[in-house]
Amino acid sequence: PVLFPALTEAQADPDGPGAHRPALRFGDRSLTYGELAAIASPLAARVAEAGRIAVWATPTLETAVAVVAALLAGVPAVPLNPKSGESELGHIVSDSAPTLVLAAPGTQLPPALAALDRVDIDINADIDVRGTGAASPATGAPATVGLPGLTPETPALVVYTSGTTGPPKGAVIPRRAIATTLDALADAWQWTGDDVLVHGLPLFHVHGLILGILGPLRRGGSVRHLGRFETAGVTRELSEGATMLFGVPTMYHRIAETLPDDPALAKALARARLLVSGSAALPVHDHERIAEATGRRVIERYGMTETLMNTSVRADGEPRAGTVGVPLPGVELRLTEEDGTTAVEAYDGETVGEIQVRGPNLFTEYLNRPEATAAAFTGDGWFRTGDMAVRDPDGYVRIVGRKATDLIKSGGYKIGAGEIENALLEHPGVREAAVTGEPDADLGERIVAWIVPSDPQSPPSVDELADHVARRLAPHKRPRVVHHLDALPRNDMGKIMKRALTHD
Ligand code: ATP
Ligand code: MG
Repeated sequence: PVLFPALTEAQADPDGPGAHRPALRFGDRSLTYGELAAIASPLAARVAEAGRIAVWATPTLETAVAVVAALLAGVPAVPLNPKSGESELGHIVSDSAPTLVLAAPGTQLPPALAALDRVDIDINADIDVRGTGAASPATGAPATVGLPGLTPETPALVVYTSGTTGPPKGAVIPRRAIATTLDALADAWQWTGDDVLVHGLPLFHVHGLILGILGPLRRGGSVRHLGRFETAGVTRELSEGATMLFGVPTMYHRIAETLPDDPALAKALARARLLVSGSAALPVHDHERIAEATGRRVIERYGMTETLMNTSVRADGEPRAGTVGVPLPGVELRLTEEDGTTAVEAYDGETVGEIQVRGPNLFTEYLNRPEATAAAFTGDGWFRTGDMAVRDPDGYVRIVGRKATDLIKSGGYKIGAGEIENALLEHPGVREAAVTGEPDADLGERIVAWIVPSDPQSPPSVDELADHVARRLAPHKRPRVVHHLDALPRNDMGKIMKRALTHD
């Protein structure tokens, strides 16, 4: 199965028009499809014998080339977060047992990777687009794209989950899941080879890597990666022809904060065909501020490492703040009661259930964790996401939060942390907010708000915030305790690490 038809075509016909089309751009370095094929295919031949390969996934052209090479070779790649601590890296390396690591030349690798063979990704070596000299240094064989023996179930990537709720688990993602998810998004978003995507996402998770790099390549389109996210780069690329922006909520928050003083950014965003947010809930306050300043609504999508993409809004649909849209084509989604098997039939915007997902977008297994894999699925193949949601009458899914950390049982009610966080963020004295539950003798659990005040000199009082929430939502949803912080603990995707809050 060919994952990247445009790449295969460029290799078969290095003089054809397809070969000259742009594929990847990072800063001032870029590759056409012809150049990408010429670099990635000898690299693919070089790593084809390896069992699994690690990729030192800096936000660079080298990382994108390395992952494409691994996919061409059919060797599973394990993207590593270069910001991981030594113990997390050690865990991932011993768990996934790669035989070699691909890295950009000159990169200093940490001790956890010292025992691995290293292969440098040398993009600056002369590119031989015709492939005459592009024989594998390892085998001397001519480079080939798409080696035999690959099936849709061949593992393509082992991506470690973000570690928001526990130690990261290695999700084995087959080629079939990548192809079907990217094609479902193409259908929903009318994503074509003419689209130019801009983003500054890290390349060791599903969002930045599979959607943000492999997505454009699957369509024969292109991506311009910002290296590091900054609003000036967004303005520049959208003004210079980029058509889509992908980001996580912390990036859209920066955009929302910048917009009042930056008319050029507002103008650039207004031109974009699609603004897409994912990986965590986009606060309603930021969604509305961006809509007001630009006339554009951000599309939210919901997915996870194990299932790739589950839901989104169609390009011709109506994004609605606080919702993640509807199941993508081919994805089955249901809500279940606490027993984990009885389906919740309600479409009333109120009845909470756990989201379960089934379809060709699913991963195969957690590496080396048969018990965790078995526990994650029901007997008839539904994957238990651990996320809680309600459905609106028209089918739009509203994520309430994670079962483990975001569902507070207080005074006989089940209360989602997310709606309280959204309400708190509408208070001018609150810049960031996270809500948790803690044991309470009377209520079972009481609601605790962790806020970063807009003005640390005069933070809003607990009474003021309790009134604010009680007026907006309901009295039983008001926080009883408020803690002030300088910043919320977040991981590299900007996700709030509630474990770090509750365990303080
Ligand atoms: P771990 O599984 O290791 O605890 P994680 O679940 O954060 O970490 P990921 O697979 O990267 O790791 O993230 C998937 C989760 O992110 C989803 O299960 C969901 O909780 C959350 N998420 C993703 N998109 C959205 C969204 N649009 N709105 C709300 N939550 C989202
Ligand atoms: Mg998870």
